[in-house]
Amino acid sequence: MESAGKLLEQKIRDVEENKNIKVYTDGEVKEVLGFLGNFIAALKTRESEEVEIKVGSVVVATGFDLFDPREIPRYGYGKFDDVYTALEFERMNLEGKILLKNGQSPKSVAIIHCVGREKKGYCSGVCCSYSLKFARYLKARLADVKVTSLYSELSLPGKAYQKFYEETKGMGVDFIRAKEIEIEEKAIKYRTEDGKEQNLPVDMVILAPAIQPSSDASKLAKMLKISRDGNGFFTEEHEKLGPVSTSMEGIFIAGCAQGPKNVVDSIVQGEAVAGRILSSLIPGKKLEPEVRTAEISEALCIGCQTCLEVCAYGAIYFDELKRVSVVNEVLCRGCGNCVASCPSGAASLKHFTTTQIHQEVVEALR
Ligand code: SF4
Ligand code: SF4
Repeated sequence: MESAGKLLEQKIRDVEENKNIKVYTDGEVKEVLGFLGNFIAALKTRESEEVEIKVGSVVVATGFDLFDPREIPRYGYGKFDDVYTALEFERMNLEGKILLKNGQSPKSVAIIHCVGREKKGYCSGVCCSYSLKFARYLKARLADVKVTSLYSELSLPGKAYQKFYEETKGMGVDFIRAKEIEIEEKAIKYRTEDGKEQNLPVDMVILAPAIQPSSDASKLAKMLKISRDGNGFFTEEHEKLGPVSTSMEGIFIAGCAQGPKNVVDSIVQGEAVAGRILSSLIPGKKLEPEVRTAEISEALCIGCQTCLEVCAYGAIYFDELKRVSVVNEVLCRGCGNCVASCPSGAASLKHFTTTQIHQEVVEALR
């Protein structure tokens, strides 16, 4: 197995050494304004310096957080020594020290899949495959270690994983479908499929927690005016036809920011985003704005600002001097919300005026 850590080290070096890429780590995005081809992002750097950068597109690739197993006390995380999350175990393995708190090598290890799956209400889709990888790390590094995988459902899609699973089983790893798992001091209590209570003595437990949206996803969604799904992940424009674009033109999503996924799928999404940006921002080519945009009649607008509240794209601003609302045509997506909500009939959609629609209906009924 190729080490993901080594692959990443090289990629990080490539990015840092690329003269066309400026990297800010540990910075904070304070504000993003603008539209496709003309965004301005205000950042606060690690050194508390305020920086403004001009960009043509924005890619939200904010990754994920791991579900905190402390939310389910029966997993014993934080209570018993030698109960680790997958991330902690991965670090341990990278450092080449798979050891118990007392400094000894574990003789038996249990890997618990699906931690938090029920609570979150979805399968993260990657925990089973990386749990197989962990089992193989353990078998390769520790002679005679007993490894048991406890799962509620095994999710191993794709052409390679079934073979990987069979091979892992062939290495002597036990796979048990278990429910009501409860971790105790140096043992695991669980029920088998037919309801029998079992007790499995183990030295070390590795928990594979669910993938959840990153903690600042809600703040970022508000700032960028993009939507999130019921689980809190950023929503794509269309599941099949726009899997990496968002409701805001020029803002894209990639990787686990959009939903749990593995490294390969994240790379594919990243490449798709790069392709979309390169094909929409061509040097020298004029951007064509949406033709069906809203317009507001200054004479009819009563300044109630209802339209500002209903515009999901932030395309309307209020002119304090004239006391009327104004549409930014570059941002407007022609959804018609402002037209439907305007109490004075001041907002209308170009090429979709009431007279035009009325005439269309008349012609259709003729
Ligand atoms: S809802 Fe209509 S009247 Fe009210 S501010 Fe907007 S355009 Fe003007
Ligand atoms: S048509 Fe939709 S996007 Fe355009 S200004 Fe009105 S509410 Fe905003």
